Amino acid sequence: MRVPFGRRQAIGLVLGHSDESALPAGKLRRCTEIIDTTPILSAADLRLIRFTSDYYHHPIGEVVAAALPALLRHGKPLHPTVETIGATDAGEATNVDTLATRAPKQAELLELLLDAGVVGVEADRLTEELPNWRRAAAPLFKKGYITRRDMPSDDFNETLTNTASRRLTLNEGQQRALAALRASDTFGAYLIDGVTGSGKTEVYLQRMQDIIDRGKQVLVLAPEIGLTPQLIARLRDRLGIEPALLHSALTDNERLAAWRAARSGAARLVVGTRSAIFTPLNRPGLIIVDEEHDQSFKQQEGLRYSARDLAIVRAKQLDVPVILGSATPTLEMLQHCQTGNYEHIRLPVRAGGAKPPTIHLIDTVRTPATDGISEPLSAAIESHLSAGGQALIFLNRRGFAPTLICGSCGHIAGCERCDSRLTVHAGKKQLRCHHCGAVRRLDSSCGECGEPVKPLGEGTQRLEEALCSRFPDHVITRVDSDSTQRKGAMNEVLDRATEGAADILVGTQMLSKGHHFPKLTLVGIVNADQGLFGTDFRSAERLAQSIVQVAGRAGRESRAGEVLIQTAFPDNPFWSTLIEGGYRQVSEQALAERQVTRWPPFTRLALLRAAAHRHSDAFRFLEDAKRIVAENADDRTRILGPVDAPMARKAGRYRVQLLLQSSDRHALHKLLGVLRPTLEQQSSGRKVRWSIDVDPIELF
Ligand code: ADP
Ligand code: ZN
Repeated sequence: MRVPFGRRQAIGLVLGHSDESALPAGKLRRCTEIIDTTPILSAADLRLIRFTSDYYHHPIGEVVAAALPALLRHGKPLHPTVETIGATDAGEATNVDTLATRAPKQAELLELLLDAGVVGVEADRLTEELPNWRRAAAPLFKKGYITRRDMPSDDFNETLTNTASRRLTLNEGQQRALAALRASDTFGAYLIDGVTGSGKTEVYLQRMQDIIDRGKQVLVLAPEIGLTPQLIARLRDRLGIEPALLHSALTDNERLAAWRAARSGAARLVVGTRSAIFTPLNRPGLIIVDEEHDQSFKQQEGLRYSARDLAIVRAKQLDVPVILGSATPTLEMLQHCQTGNYEHIRLPVRAGGAKPPTIHLIDTVRTPATDGISEPLSAAIESHLSAGGQALIFLNRRGFAPTLICGSCGHIAGCERCDSRLTVHAGKKQLRCHHCGAVRRLDSSCGECGEPVKPLGEGTQRLEEALCSRFPDHVITRVDSDSTQRKGAMNEVLDRATEGAADILVGTQMLSKGHHFPKLTLVGIVNADQGLFGTDFRSAERLAQSIVQVAGRAGRESRAGEVLIQTAFPDNPFWSTLIEGGYRQVSEQALAERQVTRWPPFTRLALLRAAAHRHSDAFRFLEDAKRIVAENADDRTRILGPVDAPMARKAGRYRVQLLLQSSDRHALHKLLGVLRPTLEQQSSGRKVRWSIDVDPIELF
């Protein structure tokens, strides 16, 4: 409904009501307008919204806002009507030719409406055909020749595309996976842990078909970058139905139409990114989270929810199965499988006979890289290209703070006070410790061997230039957030790459998600070392995920793939674990380590962030928070900080954080339940922007 709110009007959603009020009747105001006369969200939808608000300690109004399409949030009715104009009986009886001699414009309009017959013509279409029709319409309305009706607008039409293409015959592993998924139609969480190209998607597709055949709906969540035309085309083609899509590139109207189709049940397949988890479903039957490990499932601002985690909660609430798929599952999911909460389904080999790629290291101390590319990598590119293959040069850029590593001796700039690595702040020419706060000048020569050093981290642009000068006769295509900003640019690049028109692809994480480049045989990873020495407890997990995902792009068809990783630290045990044992061994080791070090998933975290123009304001606020926590916490809770955030200043504000860790989730939530209202009253909070991040995935 529309309600008066101070001097303005606001859109509100009624969640409940009361027969009495603490305010005198004279102070209460009436709502201005009831926009929808029937509830737009069901009890089940509200249950998820309430859960989200409670779990993330976030105001319910903002959760509702996240759950609704923009048009509904701004007051458009759920069932909009369309202004339709039609001719009346009197209009039909009129002689149009006579009218044409006096008023040609009126005659033209009337003629058009007469042709359309009883259904009339939508106002928008009239505007397209006769831009000034309203002027001609006025006298026709007056004479009663035409009339206006508000017709309910069409719901989503589930246009059947061509009939579904034939199912593939599943291999043995896939058959076993499908049988496990078919064991139950009620709640259960299933992790499909399958190497890239093992045919996970093929398995989901067949399970989706079961559910859709039974008249139920399937909701698929995919990462923003993973929601490619390739995936959509495959779903459409295999299932023979048009999916209702919910992602960021849609117009508000398209979004609303898809949302309504999901809500009414007209769309049997709903595919979307993170926020699609809140889409109402009339007859839910199955939820799928593709690429479960992808960080884009967690919203990093405002309502900091994890769509992956909410998918599991929602499936439980609705009593339907949820399938989580990944070639590199998060330790959180693996831990649930170990304790038996979730079912672990493994697909260890590639479907269709493609061989797994081989991985080798290039020691950049012995064969240094110039402009990011070492001689051995350059030679490998040359040989793969001349054999008719395609190469992908991958720059791992996300989530790792830059460190200063000497290219000659491998020395890393470290903190003298606390045994941790310093982070490069190139703008201020400083090295900083994010644990103790120590600062020193950014060196231009190595503290160990005296050779000149540069901060590690090559830009994609520099790499592209370097490759262009080495391979002047080949087509080189860069794929990163800069080169794909224009709408549709990403798809064009991907199409070109898929067809094989680009010989060398240079890019970041964007290239590592779910794409299938038939000709790609070589993957070069040029700056893996940043991940080896990340300060976050998730560094190893993340690095392994990045490498395995991008490596999975190589050799997906008949030609074998090769992966070359440039590193100044070839003896680091991480490499032998990854190369010999794959992601499985890296994750098993990391999980064992986390158990000892008491990091998630063995403990639960909540991160309190504060930002202010004055450092002391942010710091004092979190000192207050720390005091409140200490007064209310039990001995299972650890308080870490307050400390400066790894990115200590952003957009003119100082950022400070306080980490709460507990071995008991309920205890942590009880604590947050006390903390939030108390902090809201805190006077020190007035100059500070603050937030609570439950289950943070980035500690800055
Ligand atoms: P994933 O989702 O695990 O990366 P996909 O389902 O995309 O794997 O399958 C990878 C490739 O193998 C695709 O080209 C797919 O068509 C093919 N494929 C999958 N399952 C089979 C099968 N049973 N027989 C033959 N080819 C298959
Ligand atoms: Zn330090």
